[in-house]
Amino acid sequence: MPKRRKGSASAESEAKSAPGRGLRDQLVKLGIARDQDLVLHLPLRYEDHTRVVPLHALAPGTTAQAEGVVVNTDIQYRPRRQLVALIGDDADAARSGQLILRFFHFYPSMQKALAPGTRVRVFGEVREGHFGREIVHPQFKAIAPDTPLPDRLTPVYPTTAGLAQDALRKLAARALAADPALTAETLPDWLVAKRQLWKFGDAVRFLHAPPPRLSSPTQRALDERTHPAWTRLKFDELVAQQLSLKAHRRARAEKRAQPLAGTGALTDALLARLPFSLTHAQQRVRREIGSDLARTTPMQRLLQGDVGSGKTIVAALAALQAIESGRQAAFMAPTEILAEQHYRKLLQWLDGLPVEIAWLSGGLPAKRRRAALEAMASGAAMLAVGTHALFEDEVLLPLLGLAIVDEQHRFGVAQRLRLRGKAMGEAHQLMMSATPIPRTLAMTFYADLDVSVLDEMPPGRTPVATRLVSQKRRAEVVERVRRACAEGRQAYWVCPLIEESEKLELQTAVALHAELTAVLPELRVGLLHGRMKPDEKAAVMADFVAGGIGVLVATTVIEVGVDVPNATLMAIEHAERFGLAQLHQLRGRVGRGAAESTCYLLFEEPLTDTAKARLKVIYENTDGFEIARQDLVIRGPGEFLGARQSGVPLLRFADLEKDAALIEQARDAAEELLRRDPAAAAAHLARWLGGKEEFIKA
Ligand code: ADP
Ligand code: MG
Repeated sequence: MPKRRKGSASAESEAKSAPGRGLRDQLVKLGIARDQDLVLHLPLRYEDHTRVVPLHALAPGTTAQAEGVVVNTDIQYRPRRQLVALIGDDADAARSGQLILRFFHFYPSMQKALAPGTRVRVFGEVREGHFGREIVHPQFKAIAPDTPLPDRLTPVYPTTAGLAQDALRKLAARALAADPALTAETLPDWLVAKRQLWKFGDAVRFLHAPPPRLSSPTQRALDERTHPAWTRLKFDELVAQQLSLKAHRRARAEKRAQPLAGTGALTDALLARLPFSLTHAQQRVRREIGSDLARTTPMQRLLQGDVGSGKTIVAALAALQAIESGRQAAFMAPTEILAEQHYRKLLQWLDGLPVEIAWLSGGLPAKRRRAALEAMASGAAMLAVGTHALFEDEVLLPLLGLAIVDEQHRFGVAQRLRLRGKAMGEAHQLMMSATPIPRTLAMTFYADLDVSVLDEMPPGRTPVATRLVSQKRRAEVVERVRRACAEGRQAYWVCPLIEESEKLELQTAVALHAELTAVLPELRVGLLHGRMKPDEKAAVMADFVAGGIGVLVATTVIEVGVDVPNATLMAIEHAERFGLAQLHQLRGRVGRGAAESTCYLLFEEPLTDTAKARLKVIYENTDGFEIARQDLVIRGPGEFLGARQSGVPLLRFADLEKDAALIEQARDAAEELLRRDPAAAAAHLARWLGGKEEFIKA
């Protein structure tokens, strides 16, 4: 245990402290690398240490500070080992009270720190115990009589193991006092006045140490972060983000990419052999991408289109345009199955055309992997298709002119950064997604992308009929499957989602497969799950595509992009466990041909209110954009960035949902600032980003 300054300990922070780790490391963990970062490291909440409640007046259920002299201290063993100290008043006997301090986690040294006769100041939540008022795990501090009380609220900062609040408080106070530049205005007066903002210095000083006894609306505004001091900080953060985006855009505009105007030799050949003609939307988007590629500015375009809107062919045409221009194209997808499917589709589409395709995935045998790497490195393969295996350092694509990323939102921030770093600076980039980006995100994290939208479905599709079916009636669904397969159709049966345990999910899949094999003896029932080896998965998929397998039992590995037009029926077990986006993606696996398709959502009763709301949305809507909109209402945009991105400091203070209006103001302000006062813009950016630029724009 590390040495402790006498009497200053809070039990909580001590219990967490790990010896030998430098303060510096701890600060870095908190994203604090400079004094400026300390100024911007703002409290989560506050404690009122400015007054002391007399012991006799402590009310159970309140959080309060009290003061007294230790009467006795003891380690008790029932019902479990604990340190118990009793403190009392030395005030006049009639009004005197007592308070029990109880510690279930403690160090022997704390017994000494609470030796009888010691005067202590304690803070915590008062409750009524068996033996009178008590505080469990109070903060406590030995003090001399008449030690003055602080005159400000005490900040509680976000911290990390081993770094005590007291230490952070001192560091923050020191940083605030150290250098006036750290609290100086970076925004010009006209902007501060126009937006009626608090001064930056006033705002940070207020937030680090607010005065006590605020009116209750002010206190609430402080807690809910709607106080003008918070607004100023959020505004500054958002302005910095917008400036960073603009800087990024400018940097991109200065970058030079090889213009890939194409010759039409390959694209025309592909169009001529397609069994369908492009929709108007596909033609429009193709033109947008085509003219981007012909420029010397690297394209960064997001292609949004609902499930089944036909993004793949648009991507293939873009790839061919690059290849016609003498450059390589890479096509990445987030899962093996999807990548493999793209690979097969491209093989089929490009059969007989002079384009060699290299296939790369994590599960490739060493020999084939080497061959693929070689073909990419030598330029023999002009088209590379694969999973994120394509991001690896070993992969060389010396002629890379266009990178295509399917289902881009499934890739995390780190991967996207990696992608940017990988020779892509000079390459054009096309990202595709079936999930529409919420407006606030479009203005922030995705603001440096151009967007194309496929807002038209290929013709001849019958919309998928959706049926909600209680588990009690699943036998009827089995009969539907039997009948559809007898008519030469195929079906998916999707296993329940079990987030807690992949193993359990696997068991369920195997059990479901056995059950369906038993009740549908005349059919071949296939099984597809995430634990299978890539080539096993590929074999099952190929068998399903060829029509050998009638019913495919699958976990959500089939969620994205799988395309088997003859499959017209889908059953989803425990549909109530899935998110809306996922249900929509899953349902999009059927209804891919001209035949009528049905999706059965099997649910287990009773349903929670959220589950009911979700199932209602998916039942009533077929438009992915509308579903996503309602999903956002249920979940909020924070979720959109995905669990994979959690832990990355995107925005510290501003909330994408609640501060949507502020985002717009910040965007306008950033524009005006750049125009009128570029030096201030640079200073502002430096304050907020330091070395962290890459995260904020990721
Ligand atoms: P998504 O946008 O979900 O990736 P896909 O690219 O997988 O959709 O296309 C879905 C299906 O529609 C594929 O079988 C594809 O070949 C077919 N398709 C694409 N464009 C058209 C079109 N213009 N007419 C008819 N079918 C099309
Ligand atoms: Mg797709």
